Amino acid sequence: MSASETIHVDGVWRAAASGATREVLDPADATVIQRVAEGGAEDADAAVAAARRAFDEGIWSGTPVAERAALLRRVADLLQRDREEIALIESRDTGKTLEEGRVDVDDVTNAFRYFADTVMNESGGRVVDAGSADVHSVVVHEPVGVCALITPWNYPLLQASWKIAPALAAGNTFVIKPSEVTPLSTVYLVKLLAEAGLPNGVANIVTGAGVPVGQRLADHPDVDLFSFTGGLVSGTKAGAAAVAGAKKIALELGGKNPNVVFADACTTEGGFDTAVDQALNAAFIHSGQVCSAGARLIIEESVKDRFVAELSRRAEKIKLGRGTEDGVECGPLVSQQQLDKVEAYVASALAEGAQLRSGGSRPEPSDIRPATGYFYSPTVLDGCHREMKVVREETFGPILSVETFTTEDEAVALANDTEYGLAGAVFSGNSARARRVAARLRHGTVWINDYHPYLPQAEWGGFGKSGIGRELGPSGLDEYRESKHIYENLRPEPVRWFGG
Ligand code: NAD
Repeated sequence: MSASETIHVDGVWRAAASGATREVLDPADATVIQRVAEGGAEDADAAVAAARRAFDEGIWSGTPVAERAALLRRVADLLQRDREEIALIESRDTGKTLEEGRVDVDDVTNAFRYFADTVMNESGGRVVDAGSADVHSVVVHEPVGVCALITPWNYPLLQASWKIAPALAAGNTFVIKPSEVTPLSTVYLVKLLAEAGLPNGVANIVTGAGVPVGQRLADHPDVDLFSFTGGLVSGTKAGAAAVAGAKKIALELGGKNPNVVFADACTTEGGFDTAVDQALNAAFIHSGQVCSAGARLIIEESVKDRFVAELSRRAEKIKLGRGTEDGVECGPLVSQQQLDKVEAYVASALAEGAQLRSGGSRPEPSDIRPATGYFYSPTVLDGCHREMKVVREETFGPILSVETFTTEDEAVALANDTEYGLAGAVFSGNSARARRVAARLRHGTVWINDYHPYLPQAEWGGFGKSGIGRELGPSGLDEYRESKHIYENLRPEPVRWFGG
């Protein structure tokens, strides 16, 4: 297999039908890591045909659940076997640090194991009381069919696995289209699926652009389920096309996530340092290119000056560089396009009256190695308010906006004042208040005195425009299944509704 044979259809690795390729860049120095196949609509069609045939022949859906679960566990073991190699691929492709890459591999290993356990622990149906001893009534689950899976560039391996593991556990076949910006770890994962023994045609991948490949998958009449993770604009467009064909859809979209800090979080023993440290982590891990990034610090007025001073001091010290280098804490942004977008958001915030407390520019070439990477300094913007673009829109970069409140109601109103609703946090030394506020936050995940942890057994997804549906947890498996009610009359006899 040559490096650019990254399309996998019916068990065969091959180039794009057109022969086109695309360069995948290392964002740390803008050099080419690898050329991959630039698939087109005809490649998408071939992949859907393979997935359709594999599904209709029942080669995977008919495999006993115990064998499906065993295969998922083998994939988990292979992920751990190749942990360093995959972490390195992910770090070079996305720019994230090697350690973040390792954490991603461990997390997806857990996701494969979780879905293996979950399908195994099910009873095989829910008996429902039909109100008669002469009726046996049971609700069972079946796979949906052919799934089209579309993933973004920031957590390629993770987002692919959150879809692939439950899709396979439920007995579906799939075609995945990873982001054209960071496709390499998903190609690797599909190789591991084949090595684990998945039959040909069950797992297919087409590397290529959103348009035409993703769009073709959204439109394709032989796709039964369309699951998309990415931005609001492309997600709603693709989702609308999928709905027009009456497909089941799942959309995991963006976020503009509040991190609410009460003054009483800073008065407990170690509370101030913890809250500052967590706010830093919330906003700047993976250079803020995280759907759940705590990009809005909403802090009680009385502690704001001290808090922002310490936060900015620490933000200035974050060590930027190539993610594979020892001691580097933040890698580059993923692309020139992302860098331009972040620069524009900072410029607009400053024009709207925000005060720069740290960052606000690319690092000086003499301060950063390699100097050609897409680096941007962690940026803290004080004096922000809800009308500002930087507060309302997802910047997807290392930008933290600071807003203040004086009452609990005001804090909640600010935190909920977003069209998104993916995640948020509340820091408080008063647990009754923390729980009260958490209950009022209209976000799919709420952390109390913490930021970012998630569990494979707990649902992930958003309120509002953060999406439709949930990944992970029992609902994450249900996304990939149809429910079927089987009603069996044990004493059939005429109903005599009609007299003739
Ligand atoms: P994006 O929307 O630009 O692209 C996402 C994927 O959609 C890519 O594979 C792209 O090729 C494809 N695509 C684009 N247009 C399409 C179309 N018309 N039809 C079908 N597919 C199409 O997003 P991105 O820039 O890659 O990722 C960043 C976004 O992802 C952010 O908004 C972030 O919040 C979101 N995200 C959300 C979650 C979550 O769990 N909710 C997780 C990670 C990222």
